[in-house]
Amino acid sequence: MAGTLRKGRFAPTPSGRMHLGNALSALLAWLQMRSCGGRIALRLEDLDRARCKPEYAPLLLEDMAWLGLDWDEGPDVGGPAGPYRQSERLELYERALRRLEAQNLLYPCYCSRADLRTAASAPHGLASEGPAYPGTCRMLTPKQRALKEASGKTPSLRFRMPDRTVRFRDGVMGPREFPPPAGGDFIVRRADGIIAYQLAVVVDDIAMGITDVFRGRDLLDSTPRQIALYAALGSPPPAFAHGPLLIGPDGARLSKRHGAVSLAELKERGVRAEEITGFLAWHAGLMDRPEPVKPRDLVPHFRMDRVPRSDIVLSPEDLERLTEGAWRGNRRRI
Ligand code: GLU
Repeated sequence: MAGTLRKGRFAPTPSGRMHLGNALSALLAWLQMRSCGGRIALRLEDLDRARCKPEYAPLLLEDMAWLGLDWDEGPDVGGPAGPYRQSERLELYERALRRLEAQNLLYPCYCSRADLRTAASAPHGLASEGPAYPGTCRMLTPKQRALKEASGKTPSLRFRMPDRTVRFRDGVMGPREFPPPAGGDFIVRRADGIIAYQLAVVVDDIAMGITDVFRGRDLLDSTPRQIALYAALGSPPPAFAHGPLLIGPDGARLSKRHGAVSLAELKERGVRAEEITGFLAWHAGLMDRPEPVKPRDLVPHFRMDRVPRSDIVLSPEDLERLTEGAWRGNRRRI
């Protein structure tokens, strides 16, 4: 991307406080951009009103700033591609839906979750989602569709996945390929009218001029879908990189049940932001020793090829050492 100013983004969902896992992804996304002189936009992904609480939004920004991360555009600082809250960008998503509709790439789907659970499992599902959509509503005749309509069921809208292998080079994971159906046709607007993540994220990344997406590996298998949407919307995809997830001692993704894993709780226990950054950077292979550090001190040392390709499993001792400050040889009482 010579000659082009690179631009990355943070895209947090305000559904809770920031935890160590989000902090690691945000730190790596920040380092990637700051080490190449790129810009960063912060966008709040608050479309799912049942999951998101408006009061979390300022707290997320506060947690990120506390950690020492900054951004050039966002809901608090403004910028040329605003608004930076998805709930205020609905018109753009509707416009994109009309564009996809005009290419006959969407169709109404009347399947309920229960229908999908009982459908014969199709191959090539997504690790994050289970079996691929079997295509039940793709081939409905106008008559069958009219019958479904008459039953009063509100349909969701699905995007037709192209029948070809999607290939891309992930900045961390290397070359990836997803043979068809790569998860199958997916929902772009839910039956309750809410725009689905896959569509909103692509429309926004295009509108905001994002050249580099760095995020957690849980979203790796959304990438073929997003690449298909980029093609349909006539834009080149950004460079994708998927970083490691933090895994708790029981093998599950790090979450509340593993103890004090939110930045707010750690802060309350007296853990300093530099200690958290050092803990994350050391576990992510960006430092040789675990010691307190500010994100900006890591910038000269950041190299994409040092980001681990596998997830980071934390032991009970790792978590205990962080919360008690013992990992820096300074056991504190709590
Ligand atoms: N909003 C998504 C999340 O919080 C991230 C979306 C993305 O990075 O593409 O998981």
